[in-house]
Amino acid sequence: MPQYDVIISGGGMVGASLACALSGKGLRIAQVEAVELQTRAAPGYDDRAIALAYGARRIFEGLQLWDSLAAEATPIHHIHVSDRGRFGMVHMDRAEEGLPALGYVVPARVIGDVLSAAVSQIGELDSYCPATVTSVSQTDAAINVDVACQGGTTTLSGALLVAADGADSPLREQFAIEHVESDYRQSAIVTNITPQLAHNNIAYERFTDSGPMALLPMTGQRCAVVWTVDSSRVDEVMALDDAGFLAALQERFGYRLGRLDRVGRRQAWPLRLVQAKESVRERLALIGNAIHTLHPVAGQGFNLGARDVAVLAEVLVDALQAGEDPGSLAVLSRYGDWRKRDHRNVAVFTDGLARMFTLPLPALGVARSVGMTAFDLLPPAKRLLTRLTMGRSGRTPRLVRGLPL
Ligand SMILES: Cc1cc2nc3c(=O)[nH]c(=O)nc-3n(C[C@H](O)[C@H](O)[C@H](O)COP(=O)(O)OP(=O)(O)OC[C@H]3O[C@@H](n4cnc5c(N)ncnc54)[C@H](O)[C@@H]3O)c2cc1C
Repeated sequence: MPQYDVIISGGGMVGASLACALSGKGLRIAQVEAVELQTRAAPGYDDRAIALAYGARRIFEGLQLWDSLAAEATPIHHIHVSDRGRFGMVHMDRAEEGLPALGYVVPARVIGDVLSAAVSQIGELDSYCPATVTSVSQTDAAINVDVACQGGTTTLSGALLVAADGADSPLREQFAIEHVESDYRQSAIVTNITPQLAHNNIAYERFTDSGPMALLPMTGQRCAVVWTVDSSRVDEVMALDDAGFLAALQERFGYRLGRLDRVGRRQAWPLRLVQAKESVRERLALIGNAIHTLHPVAGQGFNLGARDVAVLAEVLVDALQAGEDPGSLAVLSRYGDWRKRDHRNVAVFTDGLARMFTLPLPALGVARSVGMTAFDLLPPAKRLLTRLTMGRSGRTPRLVRGLPL
């Protein structure tokens, strides 16, 4: 039976990032991924634009991958938040934070390509793909993982199994880890457009009565669009021809960027909140969407998953140096306890934002406008929010601080 220190189930953006973080640390790694990579069906290889916070840039720098991403990364210099039909506005600027950028917009496809090229170079990693983890059994010293691959089943043995297997995490189910789930009854329609005016590296977040909408700066003067639409209207909006879609978008977004022009391929993503109640068990750790699947309103899901990677890798590397068993509950609880606060804060923040702006209460609308204006005038509150969304609140892992693992 092949023996590993770490078996990672899932090779999406988060699972692949963990494999890169653990490479060169003297660990034997197996990665099992269900979908053949380099296909459009593979998560992490799609057309979405991912907003990476500055902390995620630091993590990618630590993994020696930032240089490969930088050419396709558009920096965000300024964030402009507005409430359609109301006066409140919030501005955030890189100068206030003393950073070169508040974040970067990178196509998911590019992140996927860079990660998979890096994973293929890891000498101590065996990749099982396309293959699925089908069942798991445990002894005191190991976890045995059955993998269905090429019409047969192989059993792998490891000290630790990491579930990076996404929002519907089969491993979370298999270990009977409870989760809370709530359907937002909304879908995010994602595409890109070319506006008449230069985006000037400004990210626009606009709240409307039907849900939030973001226009994010991209290369070639394009903007990535994430438009949240009520589930009952998704088919209708997706069926519009390009001119009709652009007109509807323009009516929602307004003319801050002049006339919205040329629209790319559209995709709709149903939205839900998923939160696992536990993140570790003996010989099991959950990371990424397997533990938290969020509304994309503030572009936080992958950023939070990247911080899971930074913390889990740090805990494992330190445990190995101390001669500890990396799969023991004592070691994994350090990861679980460390991540609790960030998970809770970011989930509460994104869920609150997603719901607050769609409640049809007139008094709430006025409170929102006043709140946004007050918030804009309060630098400490803004700094706190920026630190939260950049993963710099609470105890910060070495990779996010720009230090080696
Ligand atoms: C519209 C939209 C916009 C977004 N924008 C942003 C953004 O701007 N910024 C941001 O930070 N985040 C954003 N996100 C969130 C981000 O996309 C996710 O948080 C991230 O992709 C999660 O990655 P993951 O690797 O945890 O999960 P996934 O991408 O779901 O990967 C899980 C992997 O596990 C594999 N798998 C599943 N079961 C098995 C099995 N049994 N055996 C083997 N393999 C298995 C799957 O094939 C898959 O490849 C957005 C999300 C949406 C929907």
